[in-house]
Amino acid sequence: MQESEMKAWWDSSHMAGANAAYVEELYEAYLEEPQSVSDSWRQVFDSLPKVEGAELEKNHSVIRDQFKKLASLGPTARMTIPSQEGATSSDGRQVKVLQLINAYRFRGHQHANLDPLGLWQQPRVRDLELAHHNLSEDDFDIRFNTGSYAYNGESMSLGDLFKSLNRTYCGSIGAEYMHITDTEQKRWLQQKIESVQAKPEISTDKKKQILKDLVAADGMEKYLSSKFPGAKRFSLEGGDALIPMLKGLISEAGTAGAKEVVVGMAHRGRLNVLVNVLGKNPSVLFDEFAGKHDDSLGSGDVKYHAGYSSDFATPGGNVHLALAFNPSHLEIVNPVVMGSVRARLVRRNNDSSKVLPITIHGDSAIAGQGVVQETFNMSQTRGFAVGGTVRIVINNQVGFTTSKLEDTRSTQYCTDIAKMVQAPIFHVNSDDPEAVAFVTKLALEYRNKFKKDVVIDLVCYRRHGHNEADEPNATQPLMYQKIKKHPVPRVLYADQLIAEGVIEQRDADKMLDDYRAALDHGACVVDEWRPMTEHSVDWSPFIGHDWDVEYDHDISIEKLKELGEKISSYPEEVKLHSRVNKLYQDRKAMTAGEKRIDWGMAENLAYADLVDRGTSIRFTGQDSGRGTFFHRHAVLHNQSDGSTYMPLQNIRDGQGAIEIYDSVLSEEAVMAFEYGFATAEPSCLTIWEAQFGDFANGAQVVFDQFLSSGEAKWGRLCGLTVLLPHGYEGQGPEHSSARLERFLQLCADHNWQVCVPSTPAQVFNMLRRQMLRPMRKPLIVMSPKSLLRHAQATSTIEELATGVFHNVIGEIDELEPSEVKRVVMCSGKVYYDLLDQRRKNEQTDVAIIRLEQLYPFPSEECAKVVANYSHVKDWVWCQEEPQNQGAWYNSQHHFWATIPEGAKLSYAGREASASPAVGYVSVHNQQQKALVEDALTIK
Ligand code: AMP
Repeated sequence: MQESEMKAWWDSSHMAGANAAYVEELYEAYLEEPQSVSDSWRQVFDSLPKVEGAELEKNHSVIRDQFKKLASLGPTARMTIPSQEGATSSDGRQVKVLQLINAYRFRGHQHANLDPLGLWQQPRVRDLELAHHNLSEDDFDIRFNTGSYAYNGESMSLGDLFKSLNRTYCGSIGAEYMHITDTEQKRWLQQKIESVQAKPEISTDKKKQILKDLVAADGMEKYLSSKFPGAKRFSLEGGDALIPMLKGLISEAGTAGAKEVVVGMAHRGRLNVLVNVLGKNPSVLFDEFAGKHDDSLGSGDVKYHAGYSSDFATPGGNVHLALAFNPSHLEIVNPVVMGSVRARLVRRNNDSSKVLPITIHGDSAIAGQGVVQETFNMSQTRGFAVGGTVRIVINNQVGFTTSKLEDTRSTQYCTDIAKMVQAPIFHVNSDDPEAVAFVTKLALEYRNKFKKDVVIDLVCYRRHGHNEADEPNATQPLMYQKIKKHPVPRVLYADQLIAEGVIEQRDADKMLDDYRAALDHGACVVDEWRPMTEHSVDWSPFIGHDWDVEYDHDISIEKLKELGEKISSYPEEVKLHSRVNKLYQDRKAMTAGEKRIDWGMAENLAYADLVDRGTSIRFTGQDSGRGTFFHRHAVLHNQSDGSTYMPLQNIRDGQGAIEIYDSVLSEEAVMAFEYGFATAEPSCLTIWEAQFGDFANGAQVVFDQFLSSGEAKWGRLCGLTVLLPHGYEGQGPEHSSARLERFLQLCADHNWQVCVPSTPAQVFNMLRRQMLRPMRKPLIVMSPKSLLRHAQATSTIEELATGVFHNVIGEIDELEPSEVKRVVMCSGKVYYDLLDQRRKNEQTDVAIIRLEQLYPFPSEECAKVVANYSHVKDWVWCQEEPQNQGAWYNSQHHFWATIPEGAKLSYAGREASASPAVGYVSVHNQQQKALVEDALTIK
């Protein structure tokens, strides 16, 4: 090679760029197994410096430096490049060929034929051009070493290689995987994709099945459109390949051993999936279109939000399918699906091949909604991993009416977010259903092998605009001119199969006729549909009870002491931090009856009792192991080696499982995950705890769209317990209020419980009640902060042993009822401020009643307590929250109904305020003093 040529090569060299990665890969392979690289590369690597006894990574970095040095030395630095016939060691073409291969692996997707409409403006990628690598068609006949390129052996002529690279990386599939740093994964993907040039042989039967599924996808929409013209159905048309794709995915999953598949999707194409994949009876759907409904299903939901369950026959046996109910909030269903899958995995010994989550996204939503990032972040964590999710994007290139790239996202692809977890991404042209089938199988294999998320970007279009009543030409004129002329996927594929001689036109016509006839007949159209037998949870024990249903809540003092001993013990080798040690010593003293029981002890005792009874517990939140306020310490951290130990996991052999995880720093996805878990598992006490209660508003959509209304809309029970630290202690606007008013506002139809327990005995029995009572309703708890260490907020072991949660607690001091002139009702921490002040005042004319459950309002229990004061005309509701917040406005109708007839009810609390609390402690103290005084002062 001439010196000038050499210089040009070095200048354009990827030695420190893309090609460096390739050479590094080769080198890594060589380090692992020298025989795995060709003789010529082995000679090169043998001649490089070695670091005696060094770790592989160290060795590797030395070599990387060596490559960099070679690159910087330029043309004078001669390195013997391995070569094959035709390319001499010194002319550098061999390296350029390897660079070319690498360039296709990195950037081939940018020239792939992905858009069925051909509207995408693809950038020119010079790396994919021969000239960029100083190669030309003149070199086509020369054979080169093809390194790790997995097609057709170790060497190829440049002409064949170039064709092969284009076929593999620039056909209907754009594979993005070179961002994955793990060499094994990368090599595995290369092997799978390159060995078949991204286009494996497909059997005639499979081709016919794909066409049949496309006929179903198209036929279903056409049928609905003719029967119910103009009705909203969020048609799949344009993305028809989703149907053969999903059926193929489920079938492959079943073949690989899956027993359950949980699917989350938004409204686009949902009716099609319900009928053509899950086997919902079309006549039921048609009835829904006609406005018929089942009154027993509560308030119900629109048909394109409905979930469904069925079984599906696969070569590996039947697979249970569950399509999750979904509100209109696109991406929020994904963590719900993952939580549901996690619960099912726990039941199946955490074998991730047994349960597959599939989430279906929109192109604008996956890029636009932050909860997607949260789920990717959770995907590999201890508490939230589900062995990988297959994520499918129905990329119709428009978000409602917004299509311009510069308006919908700041990334080239809508799927770029997946790179944060180094998930492989397969973009695929949906008009090539065979390519779709290939990436679908590949995605599943990858997920099962590496237990990681994987993304399929199904590039398609939307034939009718956002919905069928829409006029898409108004906002997407060029796209819709194109769509109008574009043949439907069924026709395209039928023509392909006819051209290949696989079928004849009449076969295609018959498929269409048969499908329409099946719809007319109104019977299930999915051959693989089977009645449900594969799901293992029986919800019937939790259905049809009232709040006062009898349940076994007894617990003896001996049992409490035995459990107390267990939860305050740990192995000798666990060295505790001095503060934790003190706390555990205290717990021992509480067990022995030498100290009153505090909150942390009572809570741990409740968990101990439940696991001792065989119930399992799942508890997550940002600091759940220790507790935000240093009170729980259910997870001990050994000071000598950082290991952890959980006394609660060591109660007895065969106990219920308990898992406590500090969660990722998110509310929305974590809460949704726990909702999903709790709706799939009634036998596990599932708890989510907010760090401070107000942070729960980061998960507002989960409270509104799922937790408070899921049973009313979808008949789905959920026993999720939510602990929200709440209380006015001068910590400012963001750490005082869990926004009690919002939860009370959402109360109706006995949808959930809102509790404000004020003693350790109460929290103990509240948590037990949540599991032992045969009902599964969400429990919202305003949990305490300062009360965790309040001298008065303690209980005796006997109080715990009553076994009962009291919805109302009457006066505890020995007041003579007839002397009482005023009754103050309150909830939570303010009770102790009132009690303290009244005792200081030595008042006997004001009684204090605590409402420990605000919803369902305990009218009967209240009536019993109120009966003592039927002569009292002066009743007060006292709260710490500002007047427009807390319970005053949302529960007032209950208070009025409670007090004696003719009595007056007044308010003692902070003035209405836009902010939940003041920022200055001194102002807080003044306010607190004033409201307590106001409550106790009889005017
Ligand atoms: P799945 O495994 O989610 O498909 O559920 C199978 C069946 O169990 C459903 O069709 C329901 O009948 C019942 N089921 C599942 N989850 C719940 C729930 N959270 N509440 C009540 N019933 C449920």
